[in-house]
Amino acid sequence: MAIIITDECINCGACEPECPNNAIYEGAEEWKYAEGTSLEGDFVLPNGNTGNADEDQEPISDEVYYIVPDKCTEC
Ligand code: SF4
Repeated sequence: MAIIITDECINCGACEPECPNNAIYEGAEEWKYAEGTSLEGDFVLPNGNTGNADEDQEPISDEVYYIVPDKCTEC
């Protein structure tokens, strides 16, 4: 699954509050699996990714809004 915000993004932030899974974050903002999901503590996702839901994760982009692929359900 490849989920990206395209080059047409003007960094306005309108999409962030619309995502039901809290999968969209502002550039340079750390994110957590627990935010907007029911994940708690240590977990293994169906795709094999592992982690701790409450740990801060590195931003995927430092400049523009980004989507966390593991949190996006392609709604
Ligand atoms: S497509 Fe993904 S990132 Fe976009 S609103 Fe739906 S769950 Fe959120």
